[in-house]
Amino acid sequence: MPTARKRIAVSLEREIPEPEEYKNNPGQKIFGSLVFNDAAQKQYLSKDVYKKLRATTRRGEPIDASISNQVAQGLQEWALEHGVSHYTHWFIPMTGLTAEKHDSFFEPNGDGGVSVEFSGKTLIKGEPDASSFPSGGTRTTFEARGYTVWDPSSPPYIQEEVNGATLTIPTAFVSYTGEALDHKTPLLRSCETLSTQALRVLKLFGNDTATHVFTTLGPEQEYFLIDRKYYELRPDLIASGRTLFGAPPFRGQELEDHYFGAIRERILAFMMDLDRELWRLGIPAKTRHNEVAPAQFELAPMFEKSSLGADHNMIAMETMRRVALRHDLVCLLHEKPFAGINGSGKHNNWSMSTDTGENLLDPGKTPHANAQFLAFLAATFAAVDDYAELLRIAVSGPSNDHRLGANEAPPAIISVFLGEQLDDIMVQLETGQPTKSSGGGVMELGVSTLPPLNKDTTDRNRTSPFAFTGNRFEFRAVGSSAPCYWPNTVLNTIVAEKLKLLADELEKAKPGDFNKALTETLRTWVKKHKKVFFSGNNYSAEWHAESAKRGLPNLKDTVECLSAATKEAYVALFERHKVLSKIEYEARTEIGWERYVKILNIEGTATLDIGMNQILPAAFTYQKALADSINALKSAGVEPPAAQLDLLKTVANKTAALKTALDSLESDLAKSNGTDAHHQGETFRNLIIPAMLGVRTIADELEGIVEDDLWPLPKYREMLFQY
Ligand code: ADP
Ligand code: MG
Repeated sequence: MPTARKRIAVSLEREIPEPEEYKNNPGQKIFGSLVFNDAAQKQYLSKDVYKKLRATTRRGEPIDASISNQVAQGLQEWALEHGVSHYTHWFIPMTGLTAEKHDSFFEPNGDGGVSVEFSGKTLIKGEPDASSFPSGGTRTTFEARGYTVWDPSSPPYIQEEVNGATLTIPTAFVSYTGEALDHKTPLLRSCETLSTQALRVLKLFGNDTATHVFTTLGPEQEYFLIDRKYYELRPDLIASGRTLFGAPPFRGQELEDHYFGAIRERILAFMMDLDRELWRLGIPAKTRHNEVAPAQFELAPMFEKSSLGADHNMIAMETMRRVALRHDLVCLLHEKPFAGINGSGKHNNWSMSTDTGENLLDPGKTPHANAQFLAFLAATFAAVDDYAELLRIAVSGPSNDHRLGANEAPPAIISVFLGEQLDDIMVQLETGQPTKSSGGGVMELGVSTLPPLNKDTTDRNRTSPFAFTGNRFEFRAVGSSAPCYWPNTVLNTIVAEKLKLLADELEKAKPGDFNKALTETLRTWVKKHKKVFFSGNNYSAEWHAESAKRGLPNLKDTVECLSAATKEAYVALFERHKVLSKIEYEARTEIGWERYVKILNIEGTATLDIGMNQILPAAFTYQKALADSINALKSAGVEPPAAQLDLLKTVANKTAALKTALDSLESDLAKSNGTDAHHQGETFRNLIIPAMLGVRTIADELEGIVEDDLWPLPKYREMLFQY
């Protein structure tokens, strides 16, 4: 029986995957080949049906019932030509993971064979049993039945496996009575309200051509890759996605040599494979690079409409996990897989755009365009200021707690970074006085031009949670494992609320007084909301003190977030914009509590188990080895030197301390039982997290003392530095 260490070393052998046919089938050729995209629709649908479907998908409207059978027919034909045997309605229940149930196309034809059945009705609507998905207590109210409804803004695609292929139809998941049971539905609703309000504002600026405004999303996805064999020997990673034990490696990220470093062969092979998989699925993977931490990487796609971008991010995360295994790697999407090493986020790049192609957060070249830009900018910063808590709550969760506010960028305090030039323009707007960027005169909205924004000055601050980066905002507090839907739903809704106020205000202005009214409104808004602007170092203690003085909220962890979530004003906001009803909104908070408790219970139990079954025995073995060796000296007539006795004492004491810490974790876990998730959540935060940390601290100390060969878990230095 090999020892633990040797077992790890031996298991590292791997096969080199077959090289891809990238020359015969280059990226531009395979892009979208598994998607029922525009080209496929054109080919498989009649001209008339194609046109009608296109109108629907463009506007994100429900599909015209009269064409559903023909669309299903074309889709089926396309799918069967790709060897597809099954179809599935794909959705994102409140687990935050994707869900799918496959049905074959085949039905017995009565002659012992099968016929292929796929109707418009099957395409549009599915009926999975909703009772096993989290519903936050709404299940009793709404029955168990749930419907999946095709979201035509997200095209069907094919999941290809070695032994077959499945037609996958992205859907929204709602209850029998229409309540949202998923992540997608509220996002679609928030896009609607934002469009309505943004069009009102655009109209005031004389824009009558845009018929729809949509938000855009470009999520930069950070992740870790470790060797699969190490992963398999880490029950903590398997159970919770993060290491619950592990002493800091003697080399960490201090050399700053990983960020943008040359990509190692094995990693690049994975990235290339991943990119091609994503391209086939029509996901515009664009950038790949090494990140700050060792074994940490990033994938950034080109931005898309929010709902499609959010779907694509889900598919990308699934694909990363899958493709990594093919390379004998495991992709870790947890926000903090390794303590003491940078965590992973998802920089959520967000903007608003018209269907005529105008990015509303792009400063523009004319005075008129600039005034309009400032209006949309103001709506955004006003929203972030007034609803900073909601944004913070939207990114909360037990895994992101290790990142936000835990001495790592960005902090839990939500502020807005505008960059030097815009800061200056804000001062001008507020005071009506010229400043350095106005070239002498007073800047008058709609009359004088903003100086062209220097993009370099907008992208310098890497510590801000909400930064303007030239033509979009980058919301950096989103966790790497989190779906993008909810953070963007909140963002869209709060900005829609401010656009609504802006339109309400400006629609009152007499014709000819528009510029004056706009200037006045923006002046008031800058005055009121400038407390949210911050350009300094968001890590610093000064900022913590300063932001408290300014009255900015600082919700430190998930428990504080969930406790603050149920304010009436928030319920009213979501109701006003028809994004969520009171019941739907409260269900989400309830699910947040349940998830918090469940995840921490897994982590607590895993800590106890690994501590008892793996680490404590290793410590005892080493203790015995030391004792034996001392006894051997004694029986040979040699007085054991004090230093040796000291080592034995140290090991004995730490082993005892580990056992004591495990006992106290066990008794604290017993106290966490109960039915009230809020109360349980507090117990986990106040008792279990410190108890887990108590166990870990001693275990990690023992890791530094116990003979390497006896240590049962792969170490940080192995997992992070073996490429
Ligand atoms: P950086 O690391 O400097 O932030 P990247 O190029 O890695 O830059 O990421 C920029 C991200 O922002 C990309 O995903 C890109 O598609 C996205 N993005 C660019 N313009 C917009 C926009 N108008 N709306 C939403 N996302 C955008
Ligand atoms: Mg970025």
